[in-house]
Amino acid sequence: MSDIIYRDCTRCEGSGRVLDAPDPTTRCWSCKGRPDRIPANIPEVLPPADEFGDTDFVPRDLGQELADSFSYVVVREDRAGTWEEHNLGLGGIWSSTDYGEAWRQGDDTLLAAKVHEHIAESPGQWCKFYDRTSRKKAEFIVIRLHRHGYVPMAVADGVNVSASSTMWLPPTYTDELLRSSPHE
Ligand SMILES: [Zn+2]
Repeated sequence: MSDIIYRDCTRCEGSGRVLDAPDPTTRCWSCKGRPDRIPANIPEVLPPADEFGDTDFVPRDLGQELADSFSYVVVREDRAGTWEEHNLGLGGIWSSTDYGEAWRQGDDTLLAAKVHEHIAESPGQWCKFYDRTSRKKAEFIVIRLHRHGYVPMAVADGVNVSASSTMWLPPTYTDELLRSSPHE
């Protein structure tokens, strides 16, 4: 059972439509035609996938609450960035190539604060932070820091909630390619 709270959409005054659009059937872009379904909190458990837009964006005004709900852990990995991290960033909330800035500065609490601030300011999609099967919110943001950058990952019950995304790649994206380090 989800603990989500909804509020009404203010953009369309509850109509579900764009108020001054030339075509009066144009759906409100904010609520997508469901004016009583704007998330008003960060739930521990998301509603079922057939009732909730997993790929919708977390409302900006909930960014701080979302960012504050995690523990942040920096894991230093003394290695080069991989081709996958430089080019695709799969399995992470995002992937940052900073040419070693975070690796060199030495204080991992500064990096954790930077990632926290980024999530608070632009939280992104719900599915980046919730396990798709259990629907539970991640407890940890694990920041994998390597010599060329870092990848923040959301972890629920010890599992990266975005790890399964790599299975959708075409066969030309071999493990060898993904794990290679072009900037070693
Ligand atoms: Zn609306």
